[in-house]
Amino acid sequence: MREYTSCHWLQHGLSFENDHIEMCCLCCHKGGGRLNIADKYNGKGLKWEDIFRLKEKFIEDNRNGIIDPRCEGCFNLVHRGWDDDEKYINYLHFNHWTHCNSDCIYCYTKWDKKAFNTRKHYQVMPMLKELFKKKMFRAGGEVTFAGGEPTILNEFDDIIKILLKNGADRITVHTSGIKFSKAIEKGIKEGVVNVCLSADSGSRDTYLAVKRVDKFAKFWENVEKYAQAQSEDNKLLVETKYVIIPEVNDNKEEIEKWFSLNLAYGIKSIVVDIENDYCRDLRKEGAKAPNHLVDLCNYIVERAKELDFNLVDYNNFRYLTSEYKLM
Ligand code: SF4
Ligand code: SF4
Repeated sequence: MREYTSCHWLQHGLSFENDHIEMCCLCCHKGGGRLNIADKYNGKGLKWEDIFRLKEKFIEDNRNGIIDPRCEGCFNLVHRGWDDDEKYINYLHFNHWTHCNSDCIYCYTKWDKKAFNTRKHYQVMPMLKELFKKKMFRAGGEVTFAGGEPTILNEFDDIIKILLKNGADRITVHTSGIKFSKAIEKGIKEGVVNVCLSADSGSRDTYLAVKRVDKFAKFWENVEKYAQAQSEDNKLLVETKYVIIPEVNDNKEEIEKWFSLNLAYGIKSIVVDIENDYCRDLRKEGAKAPNHLVDLCNYIVERAKELDFNLVDYNNFRYLTSEYKLM
Protein backbone atom coordinates (compact mmCIF):
# COMPACT_ATOMS: atom_id res chain seq x y z
CA MET A 1 0.00 0.00 0.00
CA ARG A 2 1.20 3.48 -0.82
CA GLU A 3 0.74 6.25 1.73
CA TYR A 4 -0.68 9.58 0.65
CA THR A 5 -3.56 11.97 1.35
CA SER A 6 -6.80 10.93 -0.29
CA CYS A 7 -10.38 9.97 0.57
CA HIS A 8 -12.46 6.81 0.32
CA TRP A 9 -15.01 8.39 -2.03
CA LEU A 10 -12.37 9.47 -4.49
CA GLN A 11 -10.73 6.04 -4.39
CA HIS A 12 -13.83 3.81 -4.49
CA GLY A 13 -17.03 5.87 -4.49
CA LEU A 14 -19.83 7.04 -6.78
CA SER A 15 -22.68 9.42 -6.06
CA PHE A 16 -25.73 9.15 -8.33
CA GLU A 17 -27.41 12.54 -8.76
CA ASN A 18 -30.58 13.41 -10.66
CA ASP A 19 -28.98 13.67 -14.12
CA HIS A 20 -25.28 13.10 -13.56
CA ILE A 21 -22.73 11.25 -11.41
CA GLU A 22 -20.31 12.79 -8.92
CA MET A 23 -17.41 11.45 -6.89
CA CYS A 24 -19.21 12.12 -3.58
CA CYS A 25 -22.04 14.19 -2.16
CA LEU A 26 -19.89 16.33 0.16
CA CYS A 27 -20.22 20.07 -0.41
CA CYS A 28 -20.20 21.82 3.02
CA HIS A 29 -16.43 22.28 3.23
CA LYS A 30 -14.28 25.15 1.95
CA GLY A 31 -13.62 23.63 -1.50
CA GLY A 32 -17.31 22.88 -2.05
CA GLY A 33 -16.87 19.40 -3.60
CA ARG A 34 -18.76 18.61 -6.83
CA LEU A 35 -16.14 16.53 -8.60
CA ASN A 36 -17.97 15.38 -11.68
CA ILE A 37 -17.67 11.84 -12.96
CA ALA A 38 -20.27 11.98 -15.73
CA ASP A 39 -21.92 15.23 -16.87
CA LYS A 40 -25.01 13.51 -18.09
CA TYR A 41 -26.41 10.21 -16.92
CA ASN A 42 -29.78 8.62 -17.51
CA GLY A 43 -29.28 5.19 -15.94
CA LYS A 44 -27.92 3.55 -19.07
CA GLY A 45 -24.60 2.59 -20.60
CA LEU A 46 -22.21 3.36 -17.79
CA LYS A 47 -18.62 3.14 -19.05
CA TRP A 48 -16.84 1.63 -16.06
CA GLU A 49 -13.40 1.82 -17.73
CA ASP A 50 -13.83 5.59 -18.21
CA ILE A 51 -14.88 6.01 -14.59
CA PHE A 52 -11.87 4.14 -13.25
CA ARG A 53 -9.60 6.03 -15.67
CA LEU A 54 -10.93 9.35 -14.37
CA LYS A 55 -10.56 8.22 -10.76
CA GLU A 56 -6.99 7.16 -11.50
CA LYS A 57 -6.22 10.68 -12.72
CA PHE A 58 -7.39 12.18 -9.40
CA ILE A 59 -5.63 9.41 -7.44
CA GLU A 60 -2.37 10.01 -9.30
CA ASP A 61 -2.58 13.72 -8.40
CA ASN A 62 -3.19 12.82 -4.75
CA ARG A 63 -0.18 10.48 -4.80
CA ASN A 64 1.86 13.45 -6.00
CA GLY A 65 0.49 15.67 -3.25
CA ILE A 66 -1.78 17.65 -5.61
CA ILE A 67 -5.16 17.87 -3.90
CA ASP A 68 -8.03 19.11 -6.05
CA PRO A 69 -9.10 22.57 -4.73
CA ARG A 70 -12.70 21.31 -4.54
CA CYS A 71 -11.57 18.86 -1.82
CA GLU A 72 -9.93 21.57 0.30
CA GLY A 73 -11.06 21.40 3.93
CA CYS A 74 -13.07 18.19 3.50
CA PHE A 75 -13.00 16.00 6.62
CA ASN A 76 -12.79 12.87 4.46
CA LEU A 77 -9.23 13.66 3.35
CA VAL A 78 -6.82 11.48 5.33
CA HIS A 79 -3.18 10.55 5.10
CA ARG A 80 -2.83 6.75 5.17
CA GLY A 81 -2.08 3.71 3.05
CA TRP A 82 -4.45 3.17 0.08
CA ASP A 83 -4.99 -0.11 -1.79
CA ASP A 84 -5.11 1.53 -5.20
CA ASP A 85 -3.95 -1.41 -7.32
CA GLU A 86 -7.41 -2.92 -7.61
CA LYS A 87 -10.37 -1.23 -9.20
CA TYR A 88 -13.57 -1.63 -7.26
CA ILE A 89 -16.48 0.33 -5.81
CA ASN A 90 -17.46 0.10 -2.18
CA TYR A 91 -19.08 3.49 -1.54
CA LEU A 92 -22.34 4.28 -3.31
CA HIS A 93 -24.61 7.24 -2.70
CA PHE A 94 -28.10 7.46 -4.19
CA ASN A 95 -29.47 10.94 -4.58
CA HIS A 96 -31.07 10.68 -8.01
CA TRP A 97 -34.75 11.34 -7.27
CA THR A 98 -36.45 14.30 -5.65
CA HIS A 99 -40.02 13.36 -4.74
CA CYS A 100 -40.83 13.19 -1.05
CA ASN A 101 -43.78 12.79 1.30
CA SER A 102 -42.52 15.60 3.53
CA ASP A 103 -42.17 19.31 2.74
CA CYS A 104 -39.37 20.53 4.99
CA ILE A 105 -38.85 24.29 5.05
CA TYR A 106 -35.06 23.91 4.71
CA CYS A 107 -35.10 21.44 1.81
CA TYR A 108 -33.83 22.48 -1.61
CA THR A 109 -37.14 21.14 -3.00
CA LYS A 110 -39.02 24.00 -1.29
CA TRP A 111 -38.27 26.23 -4.29
CA ASP A 112 -40.79 24.34 -6.40
CA LYS A 113 -42.25 21.39 -4.52
CA LYS A 114 -44.64 20.45 -7.30
CA ALA A 115 -41.84 20.30 -9.88
CA PHE A 116 -39.55 18.29 -7.59
CA ASN A 117 -42.38 15.90 -6.69
CA THR A 118 -43.05 15.16 -10.36
CA ARG A 119 -39.50 15.32 -11.69
CA LYS A 120 -38.50 12.26 -13.69
CA HIS A 121 -35.60 10.11 -12.53
CA TYR A 122 -33.74 7.12 -13.87
CA GLN A 123 -33.59 3.59 -12.47
CA VAL A 124 -30.42 2.34 -10.77
CA MET A 125 -31.20 -1.40 -10.74
CA PRO A 126 -29.64 -2.02 -14.21
CA MET A 127 -26.41 -0.34 -13.04
CA LEU A 128 -26.41 -2.33 -9.77
CA LYS A 129 -26.99 -5.65 -11.57
CA GLU A 130 -24.01 -4.91 -13.82
CA LEU A 131 -21.85 -3.81 -10.89
CA PHE A 132 -22.49 -7.10 -9.08
CA LYS A 133 -22.27 -9.23 -12.24
CA LYS A 134 -18.87 -7.74 -13.07
CA LYS A 135 -17.83 -8.29 -9.45
CA MET A 136 -16.77 -4.67 -9.11
CA PHE A 137 -18.48 -4.18 -5.74
CA ARG A 138 -16.76 -4.93 -2.47
CA ALA A 139 -18.13 -5.02 1.06
CA GLY A 140 -16.49 -2.92 3.75
CA GLY A 141 -17.67 0.50 2.55
CA GLU A 142 -21.14 2.04 2.77
CA VAL A 143 -24.23 2.49 0.62
CA THR A 144 -26.21 5.63 1.47
CA PHE A 145 -29.58 7.01 0.41
CA ALA A 146 -30.52 10.68 0.52
CA GLY A 147 -33.02 11.87 -2.11
CA GLY A 148 -36.03 12.55 -2.09
CA GLU A 149 -37.70 10.00 0.12
CA PRO A 150 -36.26 6.50 -0.37
CA THR A 151 -39.26 4.51 0.90
CA ILE A 152 -41.48 5.89 -1.90
CA LEU A 153 -38.91 5.22 -4.61
CA ASN A 154 -40.39 2.49 -6.82
CA GLU A 155 -37.13 0.49 -6.92
CA PHE A 156 -36.36 0.83 -3.22
CA ASP A 157 -37.25 -2.69 -2.03
CA ASP A 158 -35.43 -4.26 -5.01
CA ILE A 159 -32.34 -2.15 -4.34
CA ILE A 160 -32.22 -3.19 -0.68
CA LYS A 161 -32.76 -6.83 -1.67
CA ILE A 162 -29.96 -6.89 -4.25
CA LEU A 163 -27.60 -5.08 -1.86
CA LEU A 164 -28.29 -7.56 0.95
CA LYS A 165 -27.96 -10.52 -1.43
CA ASN A 166 -24.60 -9.32 -2.71
CA GLY A 167 -22.95 -8.72 0.63
CA ALA A 168 -23.34 -4.99 1.22
CA ASP A 169 -22.60 -4.80 4.93
CA ARG A 170 -23.48 -1.18 5.72
CA ILE A 171 -26.48 0.58 4.25
CA THR A 172 -27.61 3.95 5.59
CA VAL A 173 -31.08 5.20 4.69
CA HIS A 174 -32.13 8.81 5.35
CA THR A 175 -35.89 8.91 5.51
CA SER A 176 -38.70 11.26 6.47
CA GLY A 177 -40.00 8.34 8.58
CA ILE A 178 -43.55 8.95 7.38
CA LYS A 179 -43.86 5.64 5.50
CA PHE A 180 -42.85 2.41 7.24
CA SER A 181 -40.64 0.15 5.13
CA LYS A 182 -40.51 -3.62 5.58
CA ALA A 183 -37.24 -3.66 3.58
CA ILE A 184 -35.63 -1.31 6.12
CA GLU A 185 -37.01 -3.37 9.00
CA LYS A 186 -35.52 -6.55 7.47
CA GLY A 187 -32.15 -4.84 6.99
CA ILE A 188 -32.16 -3.69 10.63
CA LYS A 189 -32.94 -7.24 11.78
CA GLU A 190 -29.97 -8.48 9.74
CA GLY A 191 -27.78 -5.82 11.39
CA VAL A 192 -26.90 -4.20 8.04
CA VAL A 193 -29.28 -1.27 7.61
CA ASN A 194 -28.86 1.89 9.62
CA VAL A 195 -31.90 4.18 9.37
CA CYS A 196 -31.77 7.92 10.08
CA LEU A 197 -35.23 9.41 10.60
CA SER A 198 -35.79 13.12 10.16
CA ALA A 199 -37.39 14.56 13.35
CA ASP A 200 -36.18 18.20 13.50
CA SER A 201 -38.51 18.80 16.45
CA GLY A 202 -39.68 17.50 19.80
CA SER A 203 -43.30 18.63 19.56
CA ARG A 204 -46.14 18.39 17.07
CA ASP A 205 -46.31 22.18 16.60
CA THR A 206 -42.65 22.50 15.67
CA TYR A 207 -42.85 19.36 13.52
CA LEU A 208 -45.72 20.97 11.60
CA ALA A 209 -43.81 24.24 11.25
CA VAL A 210 -40.75 22.46 9.84
CA LYS A 211 -42.27 19.58 7.88
CA ARG A 212 -45.53 21.19 6.78
CA VAL A 213 -47.24 17.79 6.93
CA ASP A 214 -49.24 16.57 9.92
CA LYS A 215 -47.37 13.29 10.55
CA PHE A 216 -45.78 13.77 13.96
CA ALA A 217 -47.60 10.81 15.57
CA LYS A 218 -47.03 8.52 12.55
CA PHE A 219 -43.33 9.47 12.56
CA TRP A 220 -42.78 8.39 16.18
CA GLU A 221 -44.92 5.27 15.69
CA ASN A 222 -42.53 4.24 12.88
CA VAL A 223 -39.46 5.19 14.93
CA GLU A 224 -40.65 2.80 17.63
CA LYS A 225 -41.28 -0.04 15.15
CA TYR A 226 -37.80 0.31 13.67
CA ALA A 227 -36.24 0.56 17.16
CA GLN A 228 -37.92 -2.71 18.13
CA ALA A 229 -36.35 -4.46 15.10
CA GLN A 230 -32.86 -3.90 16.53
CA SER A 231 -31.13 -6.81 18.22
CA GLU A 232 -30.00 -6.55 21.84
CA ASP A 233 -26.36 -6.30 20.83
CA ASN A 234 -26.76 -3.46 18.33
CA LYS A 235 -29.00 -0.62 19.44
CA LEU A 236 -27.33 2.03 17.30
CA LEU A 237 -28.97 1.19 13.96
CA VAL A 238 -32.00 3.45 14.38
CA GLU A 239 -31.35 7.16 14.77
CA THR A 240 -33.41 10.31 14.70
CA LYS A 241 -31.99 13.48 13.22
CA TYR A 242 -32.40 17.10 14.29
CA VAL A 243 -31.42 19.81 11.84
CA ILE A 244 -31.06 23.06 13.77
CA ILE A 245 -32.91 25.78 11.89
CA PRO A 246 -32.16 29.28 13.24
CA GLU A 247 -35.24 31.02 14.64
CA VAL A 248 -37.42 27.94 14.12
CA ASN A 249 -36.23 25.12 16.37
CA ASP A 250 -32.98 26.50 17.82
CA ASN A 251 -33.92 26.41 21.48
CA LYS A 252 -33.09 24.16 24.42
CA GLU A 253 -36.74 23.46 25.26
CA GLU A 254 -37.39 21.88 21.86
CA ILE A 255 -34.11 19.93 22.04
CA GLU A 256 -35.09 18.62 25.50
CA LYS A 257 -38.46 17.45 24.17
CA TRP A 258 -36.69 15.67 21.32
CA PHE A 259 -34.28 14.02 23.79
CA SER A 260 -37.27 12.84 25.88
CA LEU A 261 -39.00 11.31 22.86
CA ASN A 262 -35.84 9.46 21.87
CA LEU A 263 -35.55 8.05 25.39
CA ALA A 264 -39.23 7.07 25.41
CA TYR A 265 -39.06 5.29 22.03
CA GLY A 266 -35.85 3.34 22.64
CA ILE A 267 -33.44 5.43 20.56
CA LYS A 268 -29.79 5.36 21.65
CA SER A 269 -28.17 7.16 18.74
CA ILE A 270 -28.97 10.70 17.61
CA VAL A 271 -27.83 12.79 14.64
CA VAL A 272 -27.46 16.57 14.66
CA ASP A 273 -26.86 18.99 11.81
CA ILE A 274 -27.38 22.71 11.13
CA GLU A 275 -29.39 24.11 8.23
CA ASN A 276 -27.22 23.98 5.15
CA ASP A 277 -28.26 27.25 3.45
CA TYR A 278 -27.73 29.15 6.71
CA CYS A 279 -24.19 27.75 7.11
CA ARG A 280 -23.43 28.31 3.43
CA ASP A 281 -24.37 32.00 3.78
CA LEU A 282 -22.21 32.34 6.91
CA ARG A 283 -19.29 30.83 4.99
CA LYS A 284 -19.87 33.13 2.02
CA GLU A 285 -19.90 36.21 4.25
CA GLY A 286 -16.88 34.95 6.19
CA ALA A 287 -19.02 35.48 9.32
CA LYS A 288 -18.67 33.70 12.66
CA ALA A 289 -21.53 31.57 13.98
CA PRO A 290 -23.61 33.60 16.50
CA ASN A 291 -23.02 32.90 20.20
CA HIS A 292 -26.55 31.58 20.61
CA LEU A 293 -25.92 28.84 18.04
CA VAL A 294 -22.51 27.92 19.46
CA ASP A 295 -24.05 27.73 22.98
CA LEU A 296 -26.88 25.53 21.72
CA CYS A 297 -24.45 23.16 19.99
CA ASN A 298 -22.38 22.98 23.17
CA TYR A 299 -25.56 22.27 25.18
CA ILE A 300 -26.49 19.42 22.82
CA VAL A 301 -23.01 17.88 23.11
CA GLU A 302 -23.06 18.06 26.92
CA ARG A 303 -26.66 16.83 27.36
CA ALA A 304 -26.12 13.97 24.90
CA LYS A 305 -23.20 12.84 27.10
CA GLU A 306 -25.29 13.08 30.27
CA LEU A 307 -28.15 11.12 28.72
CA ASP A 308 -25.74 8.55 27.26
CA PHE A 309 -26.74 9.09 23.63
CA ASN A 310 -24.37 8.19 20.84
CA LEU A 311 -24.09 11.59 19.10
CA VAL A 312 -23.46 11.53 15.36
CA ASP A 313 -22.28 14.89 14.03
CA TYR A 314 -23.38 15.57 10.48
CA ASN A 315 -21.49 17.95 8.22
CA ASN A 316 -22.33 21.49 9.35
CA PHE A 317 -22.59 20.50 13.03
CA ARG A 318 -19.26 18.72 12.71
CA TYR A 319 -17.54 21.76 11.20
CA LEU A 320 -18.96 24.09 13.88
CA THR A 321 -18.17 21.83 16.85
CA SER A 322 -14.68 21.25 15.54
CA GLU A 323 -14.08 24.99 14.94
CA TYR A 324 -15.20 25.80 18.50
CA LYS A 325 -13.64 22.64 19.97
CA LEU A 326 -16.93 21.49 21.50
CA MET A 327 -16.43 17.76 20.97
S1 SF4 B 1 -12.16 14.76 -0.31
FE1 SF4 B 1 -14.30 15.27 0.12
S2 SF4 B 1 -14.94 16.52 -1.63
FE2 SF4 B 1 -13.08 15.42 -2.26
S3 SF4 B 1 -13.82 13.55 -3.25
FE3 SF4 B 1 -13.44 13.09 -1.11
S4 SF4 B 1 -15.40 13.33 -0.07
FE4 SF4 B 1 -15.52 14.40 -2.05
S1 SF4 C 1 -37.48 14.65 4.26
FE1 SF4 C 1 -35.56 15.18 3.18
S2 SF4 C 1 -36.06 15.13 0.99
FE2 SF4 C 1 -38.01 15.20 2.11
S3 SF4 C 1 -38.59 17.36 2.16
FE3 SF4 C 1 -37.45 16.88 4.07
S4 SF4 C 1 -35.29 17.37 3.62
FE4 SF4 C 1 -36.39 17.24 1.64
